[in-house]
Amino acid sequence: MIDQETIQRIMDAARIEEVIGDFVSLKKRGANHIGCCPFHNEKTPSFYVSPSKGIFKCFGCGEAGDVVAFLKKHEHFTYPEALRWLAQKYNIEIREEEQTEEQKERQSERDALFHVSEFAQKYFADLLYNDEMGRAVGLSYFHSRGLSDEVIKNFGLGYCLDEWSNFTDYARRNGYSDAVLEKTGLTIFKEPDSSDKSSADHRRKSYDRFRGRVMFPIYSISGRVLGFSGRVLSSEKQAAKYVNSPDSDIYNKSRILYGLYQARSAIAKTNKCYLVEGNIDVISMHQSGVENTVASCGTSLTTEQIRLIKRYTPNVTVLYDGDSAGIKAALRAVNLLFAEGMHVRVVLFPDGEDPDSYAQKYGSTKLQDYLATHEDNFVMFKTRVLLDGVKNDPIRKAELVKETVNTIALVPDLLERTEYISQCAHLLDVPEEALASELAKAVNQNRLKAIEERANQPGSADQPSSSDTTSPTQQTPSADKHETVSQPQTPTSTYLPQAPAAERHLIQLLLNYGDHTLTQYSPADDGTTQEISFTVAQAVVSDLQADELSFSDPLCQKIFTYYCDTLSRGEAPDASHFISVDDEALRSFAISLMLDTFRISDTWRAKQIFVPTLEDNLQEDLNETILSFKLGCINARIADNARRLRSVENDEEMMGLLTEKKQLVELRHQIGMALHRVID
Ligand SMILES: [Zn+2]
Repeated sequence: MIDQETIQRIMDAARIEEVIGDFVSLKKRGANHIGCCPFHNEKTPSFYVSPSKGIFKCFGCGEAGDVVAFLKKHEHFTYPEALRWLAQKYNIEIREEEQTEEQKERQSERDALFHVSEFAQKYFADLLYNDEMGRAVGLSYFHSRGLSDEVIKNFGLGYCLDEWSNFTDYARRNGYSDAVLEKTGLTIFKEPDSSDKSSADHRRKSYDRFRGRVMFPIYSISGRVLGFSGRVLSSEKQAAKYVNSPDSDIYNKSRILYGLYQARSAIAKTNKCYLVEGNIDVISMHQSGVENTVASCGTSLTTEQIRLIKRYTPNVTVLYDGDSAGIKAALRAVNLLFAEGMHVRVVLFPDGEDPDSYAQKYGSTKLQDYLATHEDNFVMFKTRVLLDGVKNDPIRKAELVKETVNTIALVPDLLERTEYISQCAHLLDVPEEALASELAKAVNQNRLKAIEERANQPGSADQPSSSDTTSPTQQTPSADKHETVSQPQTPTSTYLPQAPAAERHLIQLLLNYGDHTLTQYSPADDGTTQEISFTVAQAVVSDLQADELSFSDPLCQKIFTYYCDTLSRGEAPDASHFISVDDEALRSFAISLMLDTFRISDTWRAKQIFVPTLEDNLQEDLNETILSFKLGCINARIADNARRLRSVENDEEMMGLLTEKKQLVELRHQIGMALHRVID
């Protein structure tokens, strides 16, 4: 635990443009620095860093935050790791703070899971070379699969003896508790059979989960052992071929890619990632010199796994077996990959071959040649495979057209979409215009759905939806009930705040000028002039609360609510609250409003046009914005009144509505007059 004072010193010392400048090439532009966003693929810079506010924001993908948020996202650091990194960069000594008992407990529990996993990995790896059975069974298996000792060591492979509790006993002797062994799943505990009264032993029975299996440790991005995948060697029919660690506090299979730790620098260097099916495929490819290879461990590909790849490259090539199960798995992956904005290609191996068997049969040069010459674009691949099943059935062909268009609609890039449409039109023998108009419909539907989702669950943008409603574009012919598929999410590049202009502007004033003091002079009873001072935040909150007005946009409303709550507690609201708020959508929205003013003035400055800054006429701007905001509210009420008038049921109700309408129209007139006075 780093104490608060040290954290403050680190944050004071850290200069965001220097830190980000270590990772991104930045150019000074006006008050800001700009560069190409490291979080999405772009050619023209839309990534802004504001030294004065200590924040960054990408206007392309919406990524935003402070210096710590940048390091967490870019370097995959935890919060303390980011602070330690900054402390080192700025030569600040870290004073550790005593942890509370609860913190200690939680910390030590996680630590214990990490420890025992590392301990187990070392033990299994040791048995592989230094135990008679380990060598005879485990090592000879790996050698028979053509793996070299070098790659076996690089991937930390091992062997768990085929005895009931060899590992568990060894771990206990080394001081590891049953609780920890159970949580990591290394040991399985069974309650004693209570119906069996003759049994004298009432203790829980325990045995090694991975007994008699060769062991593939699964590493985190930073190289910590998180769990294991164990392959059975005996020919017992009941035994599952692969057994994986159960999910625990440190191991979550849908957020881990097998081999990423060993592959990550090769992925970054080649700007490409090969995705294969099995652990052995990863290792075999690695040994053949194709080191940029990963596999999803024991699950179908998930959105979280795709995002892990995306940190290093947007280019994925999916390698699948030529059998029908392999093709189905490849088809399942396509929509998810596209929805995350990845550029997807596919290599299909000849029937009966996988990357491992191919490498073994033909050697590494032939494998590399095969990969280089058999890459296909994924839309073409999918269309071809589906077309094979259609033959001459017009109804199924129409379905296929729809299915293909839905997939293409997920591609975020317009040019890429257009290219795919023209290829598919040719392949399916359908007029290009017909496909294009279907595509436009599908794209619009996705957009509407995204807006609706955002409106319904503001702030949950980074959490996979748990709902099991399946979008039409997600239905693939072989949807597996057990697969972990998150809702495909809107590509972040289409993220644009949708709030009405007056709402946005009012929030912008709150965030940027909320603490500015305004002074009003009004005649007092005794004939003198009275001076009243208040902040912009106080003015906005009291004015809107007096009329019980609220924002239609949920993000605007959240920000406004924060200002109301803080002021009602007698505290001073602070816009920087939103720079580090957990809610990603809220943070991104707030920061974009905080930076927008800079961006506008930068543009003007570049064109040598003088514009008065907002500060120069803050009072006028505030009055005008509040009036526009109110006008928006009144207009909404008038529209609502008109809607109710259309379905009116009795005279009494009609009279009431007409009276209300008259009042509303009068109010609108007054606001309109006031607005003119302000504007003129
Ligand atoms: Zn970006």
